[in-house]
Amino acid sequence: KEYGEISLKDIDQVAKSSFPLCMRHLFEKLREDHHLKHAGRMQLGLFLKGVGLNVDDSLAFWREEFSKKVGLEKFEKEYAYNIRHNYGKEGKKTDYTPYSCQKIILSTPGVGDHHGCPYRHFGEENLRAALSRMGVNSRAMEDVMGKVRNRDYQLACTLTFEALHAAPCDAGINHPNQYFSDSQRLLKA
Ligand code: SF4
Repeated sequence: KEYGEISLKDIDQVAKSSFPLCMRHLFEKLREDHHLKHAGRMQLGLFLKGVGLNVDDSLAFWREEFSKKVGLEKFEKEYAYNIRHNYGKEGKKTDYTPYSCQKIILSTPGVGDHHGCPYRHFGEENLRAALSRMGVNSRAMEDVMGKVRNRDYQLACTLTFEALHAAPCDAGINHPNQYFSDSQRLLKA
């Protein structure tokens, strides 16, 4: 298990170095808008739980952003419950599992939503801009876009991983948390 791996003070740095694009996008939107809709909160929140952010750090993380937008009181009343719920601390105490690529790719984000898989759900121009911000060079970019055109979204993500880490990812990417742990393993090696 990867639980217990990151703490709040490192989160911006590891988001840059080791989050796959789907999570990086949600993370940056949250920092920018101080808000995410429900499906985005679920996708990012469960991923963060999977990378080892504990429930208290998680509450602090969401509180910091949401309180700037909706205020502290509303955060505690309307959002904190769901975060604890994701950790199995409320309701039926189910321990919710982070979403796989397949589940994320099959989701259907609407206007104003930021969840989903950017390789599938972004238009070409936005995707190129996002990849270039991540540091994907122009040669790797064309390989990635080729996979996107073939609707091989996970392969596109795998090629992105390989370009950014200058290392092979033979198993391929099938889960955002796998992307994260493979990345951390390489960066810490
Ligand atoms: Fe996220 Fe998976 Fe899409 Fe990569 S392929 S961006 S890890 S959903």
